[in-house]
Amino acid sequence: NLSDRLERSFKILKGEGKITEINVAETLKDVRRALLDADVNYKVAKTFTDTVKKKALGMNVLTAVKPGQMMVKIVHDELADLMGGESVGLKLEGRPAIILMSGLQGSGKTTFSGKLANMLKTKQHKNPLLVACDVYRPAAIEQLKVVAAQIGVPVYSEDNNKDVVEIANNAIKEAKTKGNDVVIIDTAGRLAVDEEMMNEIETLKNSVNPDETLFVVDSMTGQDAVNTAKEFNDRLDFDGVVLTKLDGDTRGGAAISIRTVVTKPIKFVGTGEKMEAIDVFHPSRMADRILGMGDIVSLVERAQEQFDEEEAKRLQKKIQKNKFDFNDFLGQIQQIKKMGNIKDLASMIPGVGKAIKDIDIDDNAFKGIEAIILSMTPKERTNPEILNTSRRQRIAKGSGTNIQDVNRLIKQFDQTRKMMKMVTGSKMSQMMGAMKG
Ligand code: GDP
Ligand code: MG
Repeated sequence: NLSDRLERSFKILKGEGKITEINVAETLKDVRRALLDADVNYKVAKTFTDTVKKKALGMNVLTAVKPGQMMVKIVHDELADLMGGESVGLKLEGRPAIILMSGLQGSGKTTFSGKLANMLKTKQHKNPLLVACDVYRPAAIEQLKVVAAQIGVPVYSEDNNKDVVEIANNAIKEAKTKGNDVVIIDTAGRLAVDEEMMNEIETLKNSVNPDETLFVVDSMTGQDAVNTAKEFNDRLDFDGVVLTKLDGDTRGGAAISIRTVVTKPIKFVGTGEKMEAIDVFHPSRMADRILGMGDIVSLVERAQEQFDEEEAKRLQKKIQKNKFDFNDFLGQIQQIKKMGNIKDLASMIPGVGKAIKDIDIDDNAFKGIEAIILSMTPKERTNPEILNTSRRQRIAKGSGTNIQDVNRLIKQFDQTRKMMKMVTGSKMSQMMGAMKG
């Protein structure tokens, strides 16, 4: 692991009073080895350490700063620079704007198409259309439809057409008539770079002339990722890279080498299987992460986005008035789910990530509960006391559960409501007051 290695090599420096040719050389040898181990291309690693060395030696040693800290800063800034320095957004100027996905099979194109559509829809108020151009595997179109249904975005597909150029152009026509301002084209990948696939995507690109051609790559494939990126870039001259599967244990190596070898910006990272597990790529934060500081900034931002303080206050009031209902209950569950896989979040905390890697947290835990609440009428959700036996039976049928499940949920809900009122309401403070007195 790159972070551990760097940390260890910096420790050697920490005891020293100043940066000298000798101790820098020792540390950088370790840094270079660590980079190579993390799949950073040899030439890239060499150039990197040479630059760091020059900077470190040219620096006056400030008495207030330990040489180790100074080295961390130099390496951090240099890493960020190497990954592009600034984050680069999407250029969506066309009407509709067209985004073309490319990459090998299993790299995460379909998942990322959904994540991006969801992000554009919820954060930029766009109205995206997903297009199914992976026409070879029957399950591929179905997979895109499932993803699209989760995020409430339409899909354009043609079941019996294998001509992807025709499908894509028909989709663009449809987007124009239906008012979709972004068209995201999901394509077929192969297990390895292959002439037929390259021809198809190249023809597709030339025909639809996308605003953004994105190359999607599995960050766990290490040095192979770099070679694949080069081959796709030679043929497609893509606009940006999407690094997927960057959850948990980081492979900073791929980010560094790809950026240097193809000189195209990394625009997004995928950090999990959920639709919300997408982040804009920030070189400086990635450098933090590689250095083992943990991506605290991303973590805080993501948590804040999902947790709206106003909403919390509103709920508090409802609870106090005993008006907390099934809509609020459902809202809370959805809020928790939106935070992404709990593991993804926790993995960003330094020191914790590795420890929880193998713990199983069940993502489907809420499914049954949601189904039951969704099968209630709006009136039942706001007035749970009207839920008599016949209503409960209807809900059980509608949600594909049984009456015991429904009864259990309602009982749990009642208890929760009572408890919430006790904890937040005046009763609690009276109790506390009585205890103190
Ligand atoms: P495609 O063949 O390029 O369309 O790849 P898919 O989108 O079907 O993804 C292949 C597999 O990788 C699926 O099981 C996805 O759930 C999974 N996957 C995609 N992106 C991520 C990610 O960022 N993190 C993790 N852990 N899994 C991912
Ligand atoms: Mg796919």
